[in-house]
Amino acid sequence: MALIVQKFGGTSVGTLERIRAVASHVLDTQAQGHQVAVVVSAMAGETNRLVGLAHELHPIPDSREYDLLIASGEQISVGLVTLAIHAEAERRGLIKRGDIRAVGLLGHQIGIRTDSVFSKARIHAIDSTTLEGHLKLGRIPVIAGFQGVDPDNNITTLGRGGSDTSAVAIAIALQADDCEIYTDVDGIYTTDPRICPRAKKIEKISFEEMMELASGGAKVLQIRSVELAAKYRMPLHVRSSFSPVEGTRVVHQDLLGKALEQVVVAGVAADASQVKFTLKRLKNDSELLAKIFGELSNAAIVVDVIVQDIATDGTMALSFTVGQTDHLKTRDILNKLRDTVLPNVVVEDRAPLAKVSIVGVGMQHHPGVASKMFGLLSAEKIGIELITTSEIKISCLIENARMKDAVNALHRGFGLDA
Ligand code: ADP
Ligand code: ASP
Ligand code: MG
Repeated sequence: MALIVQKFGGTSVGTLERIRAVASHVLDTQAQGHQVAVVVSAMAGETNRLVGLAHELHPIPDSREYDLLIASGEQISVGLVTLAIHAEAERRGLIKRGDIRAVGLLGHQIGIRTDSVFSKARIHAIDSTTLEGHLKLGRIPVIAGFQGVDPDNNITTLGRGGSDTSAVAIAIALQADDCEIYTDVDGIYTTDPRICPRAKKIEKISFEEMMELASGGAKVLQIRSVELAAKYRMPLHVRSSFSPVEGTRVVHQDLLGKALEQVVVAGVAADASQVKFTLKRLKNDSELLAKIFGELSNAAIVVDVIVQDIATDGTMALSFTVGQTDHLKTRDILNKLRDTVLPNVVVEDRAPLAKVSIVGVGMQHHPGVASKMFGLLSAEKIGIELITTSEIKISCLIENARMKDAVNALHRGFGLDA
């Protein structure tokens, strides 16, 4: 008997028909002798709808109430999935009306404690006793992903795609044997199959590579879920809720075998929602840089690519990127700084831009990967605005409209086409 956490994403609970399929699947797993805890996302499109409503009321909604609102989609899924499990269990003759086989639970009901960084909260602790109690009684906990509560009992959310992180954190708290992420593709591919039809399914991928793909924009897993799984060595299995085929295992690098080290580029990622800020005529003073990035970090804004350049007159030009969701907040902060401590500085922003990245652990030992990337982009006449690298990733910021061409050219050029 194994203890398995099964997480179902938005499309997997997008209609009552899909919810009935989830109920059947979960009961089948239990019938095989396993204990199952379920984590669900909001129905497809629901979180976007709520985000849209909030932004119609204000371009920068109040953070506490915003989280309270956007966390609510998951409550609907929890209710529906739990009801569907009971209906199916009754139909199968497993329970009588009124018996309890599944229990719907919101974040605060199982002590998912987070910090107070609304919309990007981090999980600090989960009180697993309630869940363990239900599992011992043969019940299936159905848990709301994406949400928790802060020390003042405010509802917090974990960032878009955060149900993946909820599932991993719950799997770790329960010391589960497996954490299955059910989604609308049948595994992790060499790039987003919706952008590149020649993408290939990967059988196994390392946590390190998956983290870089996720940070490059591959939203099949939220980056924090991969970080957490890597830290606690919780194996992940990304698979389809529409078909029973084996998906992709995300595992520790030493479980991959040597052959994969030969692969220079394992995947290509793309993110269409980058905003580039440029500050011109900045005094060349590192204290100012500390001040600017300090203010952004206090507002929990994650800055990605940073490039700094000294002009001939000795002033500095500074460019960096943030995600689209932080666009207005960042502009507000920079404009305030310009009006106080950065007189005469010009603040410019450009959006949306795209970031394309190539990722592979083999890159560390292969020279010439960057030049090949630039060559492939230049052959497509795609201009590069900013470049950033890590040991196993190279990212380029490009014109949004050329993202698809760039991904396809890199995928082909690095020999990934199926
Ligand atoms: P869910 O609602 O199940 O959490 P998401 O939409 O968050 O699903 O993530 C699944 C989507 O991730 C896929 O439909 C696919 O378009 C996208 N995706 C991006 N990069 C990849 C990749 N490398 N492999 C597979 N899917 C990817
Ligand atoms: N419903 C949330 C979102 O759309 C969380 C998730 O789907 O993982 O971002
Ligand atoms: Mg997701």
